[in-house]
Amino acid sequence: LQTKLPAVGKTIFSKMSEMALEYGAINLSQGFPDAQLDPLLQEEVTKAMLANKNQYAPAAGTLELRTAISKYAKRQFEQSYDPQSEVLITSGATQALQSAITALVKEGDEVIIFTPAYDSYVPAVELAGATPVYCRLKYPDYSIDWKEFKRLVNRKTKLVILNSPHNPSGRLLSSADIDQLIRLTDGTDILILSDEVYHNILFDGKDHHSMASYPKLAERSIVVGSLGKMLNVTGWKIGFCLAPKLILSEILKVHQYTVFSVNTPMQLGVASFLEKYPNKINELLSPLQAKRDLFVKEISKGKFKALPCDGSYFCLLNYSEISDEDDVKFSEWLAKEVRVSAIPLSVFYHNPEQNKVLRFCFAKEDDVLIEAAKRLNAL
Ligand code: PMP
Ligand code: GLN
Repeated sequence: LQTKLPAVGKTIFSKMSEMALEYGAINLSQGFPDAQLDPLLQEEVTKAMLANKNQYAPAAGTLELRTAISKYAKRQFEQSYDPQSEVLITSGATQALQSAITALVKEGDEVIIFTPAYDSYVPAVELAGATPVYCRLKYPDYSIDWKEFKRLVNRKTKLVILNSPHNPSGRLLSSADIDQLIRLTDGTDILILSDEVYHNILFDGKDHHSMASYPKLAERSIVVGSLGKMLNVTGWKIGFCLAPKLILSEILKVHQYTVFSVNTPMQLGVASFLEKYPNKINELLSPLQAKRDLFVKEISKGKFKALPCDGSYFCLLNYSEISDEDDVKFSEWLAKEVRVSAIPLSVFYHNPEQNKVLRFCFAKEDDVLIEAAKRLNAL
């Protein structure tokens, strides 16, 4: 059989979650919260199901949810998106990313991807026949080397994929980064795919700079969000995509033949939840600051060294004082023998870099974090 993705196997998230299950390890690898479902959200979704809203939604999403997301974007990013033509409801951020890439790039196009990069970008670009061009973030602060970026941009550059807060590092784009991006791409047709799924998971009073908030970028940007992340329900697989009409209509063409539409009662329930309780998202996500603080404090008692983290579910720990093993082998050993699972950073690179760093998800109950830190500190 001819394979279109020869280098791709099972995702690291599936692999490490399976290992956690097999060895009874604490799963701090795949990024999902163990928070309970909010009862008011449950009530709204249940109401939609009982009202028999269980048939296909319009392809772009129910107008109720598109309107709720448009209002949210106005509040959050201070940008207007027309719910009729500039908002698309997707099956998680994953499908928004995949559909956007499929719709917007083709053979001969280059797509700039910053590494370490979330794992779904490269296969999507390759499936579209385009060429990924890698721009390595600087270690250990994972900042962008704008000189290197400038060197990589050429007339074939069609798309730049950005992700802030960044998975896996938890670092943020600064306003100086935004200035550089505008300076280096203004007046070009380069599109920006901005993965902002953790935009409201921020720590220490830091700010998020959305592509949506800068008119010079918003006119060429596709902003991707995840309601799974915003509402602590990653298994619901519901997300969205914001973009100017011309761009969004191209993405919709792919979306309608990939999933056609996203499940109706979830969309209606989420829409009325967002309308009725606009402050609930912050309430659901606010415990994460204390969780990061707790995990970092507990870990500081041992030999792992925490790297700074400004947002997201994730904290990076350097283990060079503990082992010389490469990060993949070390993470496998950790899941099996220490019974804590984590993600090795090298898998997020094109040419793996060995900094002896693992990614840990701290979106977990406090006692789970304390027990995990205890096991890790015993090393
Ligand atoms: N982008 C990033 C950076 C992520 O961490 C994730 C995983 N949560 C996604 C996209 C996919 O989000 P979703 O679960 O909504 O598909
Ligand atoms: N985004 C999640 C993470 O980074 C995983 C989602 C998935 O399993 N694809 O851990």
